[in-house]
Amino acid sequence: MVKSTRILRPKFTTHADGSDAVLVMHELVGETDGPTIGLSAAIHGNENTGAQAMVDIWRAIKDLPLKGRILMLPVANARAMAVNHRFTPIDELNLNREFPGNRSGNYTQQLAAAITSEFLEKIDVHIDLHAGTDRPTVDYVYIWNDEELSRAFGSKILYRPVMDKGGTVFSGTTKAVTLDRRGIPCVVIELGGGIVDQTPYVTRTVDGVLNMLRHLGAIPGDVKPAPKQIVVDEIETIRPTQGGWLEPLSPPLGEVIEKGQLLGRVVSPYTFETLEEIPTPFDRGIMILSHLSRNLVESGDFGFMVGNLARATD
Ligand SMILES: [Zn+2]
Repeated sequence: MVKSTRILRPKFTTHADGSDAVLVMHELVGETDGPTIGLSAAIHGNENTGAQAMVDIWRAIKDLPLKGRILMLPVANARAMAVNHRFTPIDELNLNREFPGNRSGNYTQQLAAAITSEFLEKIDVHIDLHAGTDRPTVDYVYIWNDEELSRAFGSKILYRPVMDKGGTVFSGTTKAVTLDRRGIPCVVIELGGGIVDQTPYVTRTVDGVLNMLRHLGAIPGDVKPAPKQIVVDEIETIRPTQGGWLEPLSPPLGEVIEKGQLLGRVVSPYTFETLEEIPTPFDRGIMILSHLSRNLVESGDFGFMVGNLARATD
């Protein structure tokens, strides 16, 4: 059984309203020794699917036999999640571009520094839950340095980024600490989002994370084999160049889209004209992020993500 559970609230600064700025973390300590597995969510405040899953993951593991420790940071950017905003409202910075952070910097840099010292430097494995925000829906898992752990989440599509020479593509993300500085196994999961019921995505997140914990030997039970998986190394993000109603025309996530098919179109809410038709970028692609409902978008918002199947592997 889990030997003990407790809530940790390290303070990192004081808000102008007098309240303490704290990280709220759950520590579950097992009866036998083992690595500390860190779970985090809501580094982007408008990606709350993972934060919802954290509630259920905690309920699922608190009465199980546990080897090692689990450290959960269910809401990494509390101020941002409270207002359903991607960036920290205090300084409008993207927390996931500020790691390892700076104790003497602006608010988001102080938050990043606290997450680095209180969480990322105290864990041996990192699983970070992202989602597609409250508009688009997304479904893939990054492969960084532990492919088997990434596969164990059970998503169909995996993404192995081709790193640029200086490694600057993802600079300032949690990986600046976990991968670049410490070299611990780390997995970023992108699942859920959109103006749709999140229950299926929350359920998949819980099942996937529990399977990863079984794979790591932290909780008992057989590891569920992954479905047939596809690894892409090239994903294109397509943003509408016009604002208006984005009407999705793409196949469902995980399905193939061929040259000539449209991802969607932007229609003016005022004149009802079609302002833009959005083609798919590859001869053969696979849908990774899309809008599942007719959503109002600004020019340049996240529209679609398509993986290139030309170089995909199993
Ligand atoms: Zn995110």
